[in-house]
Amino acid sequence: MPKRIFHFRRGEAERPADAAEALGLKGANLALLASLDLPVPPGFTIATSAWREAQSAGADLPQALRSDLRGAIEDLENVTGRRFDGDRQPLLLAVRTSARSQMPGIAGSVLDVGLNDRTVDVLAAELSDVSFAYRSYRRFIESFAALVFGADPSEFEEIFDAERERAGWGEEPSSTEDWRALIARYQAYLDGEIGLVLPQTPLEQLYSVVEASFASWRSPLAASHRLLQGIPENAGLAVTAHAMIFNERNVKSGTGRALSRHLQSGESRLSGEFWLGSHRNQEIGGRPPLIDLADRTSGAAAFPADIDALTQHVRRLEAHVGDAVEVEFMVGDGQLFLMQSRLARRTSAEAIRIAVEMVKEGLIDEAEAILRIDPASLDELLHPTIERSSDLVVLGRGMPASPGAATGEIAFTAERAQEMVNEGRPVILVRTETYPEDIHGMHVSEGVLTIRGGTTSHAAVVARGIGKPCVTGASSLRIHADTRTLHAPGRVLREGDRITIDGASGEVIEGAVALLRPSLTGDFATLMEFADRARRMRVRTNAETPIEARSARAFGAEGIGLCRTEHMFFEGDRIRAMREMILASDEAGRREALAKLLPIQRSDFIELFEIMAGLPVTIRLLDPPLHEFLPKSSAEIDETAATLHVDEAVVRQRIAALDEFNPMLGHRGCRLAISYPEIVEVQARAIFEAAIDAGEKTGDAVVPEIMVPLVSLRRELDFVKERIDRIAAQVMAERGRTVTYQVGTMIELPRAIVRADTIAEVADFFSFGTNDLTQTVYGISRDDAGNFLSTYMREGIIERDPFQTIDVEGVGELVAMAVEKARRTRPEITLGVCGEQGGDPASIAFFEQTGLDYVSCSPFRVPIARLAAAQSAIRAQRGGQRGRARRQEP
Ligand code: PEP
Ligand code: MG
Repeated sequence: MPKRIFHFRRGEAERPADAAEALGLKGANLALLASLDLPVPPGFTIATSAWREAQSAGADLPQALRSDLRGAIEDLENVTGRRFDGDRQPLLLAVRTSARSQMPGIAGSVLDVGLNDRTVDVLAAELSDVSFAYRSYRRFIESFAALVFGADPSEFEEIFDAERERAGWGEEPSSTEDWRALIARYQAYLDGEIGLVLPQTPLEQLYSVVEASFASWRSPLAASHRLLQGIPENAGLAVTAHAMIFNERNVKSGTGRALSRHLQSGESRLSGEFWLGSHRNQEIGGRPPLIDLADRTSGAAAFPADIDALTQHVRRLEAHVGDAVEVEFMVGDGQLFLMQSRLARRTSAEAIRIAVEMVKEGLIDEAEAILRIDPASLDELLHPTIERSSDLVVLGRGMPASPGAATGEIAFTAERAQEMVNEGRPVILVRTETYPEDIHGMHVSEGVLTIRGGTTSHAAVVARGIGKPCVTGASSLRIHADTRTLHAPGRVLREGDRITIDGASGEVIEGAVALLRPSLTGDFATLMEFADRARRMRVRTNAETPIEARSARAFGAEGIGLCRTEHMFFEGDRIRAMREMILASDEAGRREALAKLLPIQRSDFIELFEIMAGLPVTIRLLDPPLHEFLPKSSAEIDETAATLHVDEAVVRQRIAALDEFNPMLGHRGCRLAISYPEIVEVQARAIFEAAIDAGEKTGDAVVPEIMVPLVSLRRELDFVKERIDRIAAQVMAERGRTVTYQVGTMIELPRAIVRADTIAEVADFFSFGTNDLTQTVYGISRDDAGNFLSTYMREGIIERDPFQTIDVEGVGELVAMAVEKARRTRPEITLGVCGEQGGDPASIAFFEQTGLDYVSCSPFRVPIARLAAAQSAIRAQRGGQRGRARRQEP
């Protein structure tokens, strides 16, 4: 039979190899502290193997365990010099369950095991404190009865109040007689009402507490939590017992929490707090009961134990663990004991501070610092967050589509948003879903809320690009356009009412909520430098406006991986010229309209090339179906007809002709380029002319990368590339300049994956469009996914939204296949990803393994991607082994 009981005391601990599994977190932790020669109360842990043995033995605690427990108590008596049931200095125990993780539903602790009608008086005499001894006895009976007999704690409260009434004492009994009378009533209640007698033998008390603690592992609540955490029942529960510390005994006693570092500054300096634990505040002599441990003058003076020793202890623990730690400790009559330790809990900013500081101190290396920061936690530092309070009124919930929190007045249309902003009112744009013509409204708003759509819907993609908080698919809300009202369950809000959205949690909250603004400190920049030194993959950005490109560069983007040119046509006069082009009845009309668009495109590209001087810029040819640009409301249709000097009916007819059942799978991407090659020609001309102009301005030759979307056949790419090459030759001849350029394609359709080897013959680069690829591989519309994917996740059918985190087994497998095929044909081909998953840390780890050259993501996710790419590279270098090698929960 494996060993049942493991002893610990300062400087000595029996520690099995699988300590957390055998002894549970508390037991393993106490054993660690003891082995580091830190002051812990002496005690022992009953291992999980004893739990298993007890289960197979049946109802009663097995004799073998009882006998081991007797031996353990004898040892403890020898170590402490106290006796269980002793006539002088009785040994009392604190008994606690110890599971391998935090687990609701299992028994808590029972303190003062060993007190009985006799030892309570022995203790009172020893400490010359009747109240302390009886107070402890009362607490013991209450917790013993609750755990072992299943007694209702409120019954004891009633007895206590009734006895107070009868005997006429105040807050608690004041004489031994009164205390005895109270205890007698407690026992009479147990005897009479519950029908069970409180055992007077300390060993029997201990057996009962251990038995009941063991049984709590099978409580329904614990069982459901085990299931959630994937812990089998057979893992079992350990139980820890140690000598009681009298931390509430007198003014030299108390309980505290100490940290090895000052979290805000990251410095190696004791901090934390200590509560003087005397039962009554008046005993403290007017001093405040809370002591600040960081206060080296008055705090240290008031601390009733050796504060230098405490400092040394946490320092030793930190050195052992290799990270900031916090300990819970107790002081009993001036004597200090560590009770428990863990990695210090910290905010994202504090985590970075501490990691950077520890590198400076030479305690950890840069790689370790990088691995310690959760990339997703950087979001908190890059965007405003909500100041949480209990009185938030949540109106509804949707998908967390773009991080950050925003507060503003409701505007139901982009036009109203613009007008309200002009009046100086901050706005949240609330739409059922957004369309390209809403973009200017999104730009001026603080944040965007949509009733429909998922995390790659139009609203989500645009909001992430421009760094605006966004919640999509808040389907419990309804917009009534006619009354300009927003309906939430039990509430109606009007235009101008204030709401707050949290794009990190998906919550929609009534009213204005205080926001915490981000501040990027020097430590953040230092951590990013560490990351840049460690990573292999490049990080580019998805950007098309100068604002996006500038902010992405500031966040460390190494070029543009995706410039969606259609986004450049949505605003102001551009959309008019675009509409003219689309509504033209023949090629000549289209060319005329395109001639107006050419200078606009060229100047946009020049600006982007200048901002990204020296870095690669990938420009994608027009991708979306043309009807997206067309007027929708009657007013817009009338206005378009007037500008074009045609009848309104003609406009309507053309709109109807462009209508498609499923535009996402319709006339878009390279299909448009093939139907209307003149669009490609004009876009290519704009790119080459801009490359020459920007190169002349900045002195850095621009090497544009032209990307063809939605290719599934090699011949599609051949067709488009031929036009691009022709225009390149023309522009170079006209300008007498040479431009080096690349033509590549998006890989975003399953057929392109299968034919990646032949497509690579004509492509200088591939960029995986994992938004469309996920959509087409799953056959799930990215715009409608929000309606049911949340149910899938709730039901555990999928773990994560595949539009946010790459589906490694399906879509990922296909990406890996295309990588392998492409490199076989063209080993030097550049491979990147520009779908939303390019900014997701878990997906980035997969892209590292797959060997992509870069990821491209929205500007605000660039720092996250830099850190995630560094972590993936470090882990790959360490042979796939997970980080935090040196650091385990202490
Ligand atoms: C993609 O499909 O992954 C992509 C980046 O293109 P878009 O989102 O513009 O369709
Ligand atoms: Mg796409």
